[in-house]
Amino acid sequence: MSRRILLVEDDRLLRSSLFEALSVEGYELKTAASLADARAQLKHVTPGMAMDLIVLDLGLPDGDGQSLLTDLRRSSSVPVIVISARQAEGQKIQLLDQGADDYLVKPFGIGELLARIRVALRHRGHAAEPALLNYQHGPLQVNLKTRRVQLAEIEVRLTPTEYALLARLVRQAGQVVTHRQLLLDVWGAEHTDQTHYLRLYMGQLRAKLEADSTDPQHLLTEPGVGYRLAEPDADA
Ligand code: CA
Repeated sequence: MSRRILLVEDDRLLRSSLFEALSVEGYELKTAASLADARAQLKHVTPGMAMDLIVLDLGLPDGDGQSLLTDLRRSSSVPVIVISARQAEGQKIQLLDQGADDYLVKPFGIGELLARIRVALRHRGHAAEPALLNYQHGPLQVNLKTRRVQLAEIEVRLTPTEYALLARLVRQAGQVVTHRQLLLDVWGAEHTDQTHYLRLYMGQLRAKLEADSTDPQHLLTEPGVGYRLAEPDADA
C-alpha cells in the first residue's frame, strides 16, 4: 500500500517538482499551498486515509508553518519534515524540540529528501515494524542486542559511555539528534549543558570507528544542532 504524504509548500515550481519526484517513488501525494489549505486537508480525511508523513515549508502566505507543527503535536505523532530557506541553528533546535522529525535547508537535493522521508517513516509512522537492532553502514556494524560493535568484521572495544552514546544514535539512525537530547539520554538531566562531554566522547568514538576522523562517514556533525548517524545500508 502506498504511503500518503501531505506536501505543504507555497512555491508553485518547487511544489510541482517535489510532487513529481515523490510520485515517481510511489508515494501518494496531496498538496497544500497555505496553512489554511493544509489544515483543511488534515481535517477532512476519510477514515483509514490519514497522512503518513508531512513535508512542511515554514514561510507560507498566511502564516508560519511552525504554528501548524505546534497544533499537530497536540494530537498527532505523524512524522513532519520541515523544509525551509532559514539557516538559523537556534530555530532548527526549536523545531526539533517542538516535534519535527527532521529538517532540510533549501536548496536541497531530492535524494536527500527521499532519504529523510524513508528514515522518518521507519522511525515514527510504522510502529509495527521492529526497531533497528542491527545497524550496518559500510564496514560499521552495531548490534544492540549483543552489544557488539564491529568494523570490517573486527570487534571494536568501546567504553560503556562510548557505547551508550553510539547506541543512542543507532536508535535514531539517519535522524539528527540534538546535543541536549544526547546529553539527557546518555549522561542524565543534570548534565544537559555539558556539551564538552559530548565533544570528548564523540572524538573518541570517531577515533575508533572512522577511517579518517577529520572526515567522518558514520558519525556526522550537524553544526550547532547535534549529530546524525548515517542512514543504515538498505540491505542490512
Ligand atoms: Ca515558502
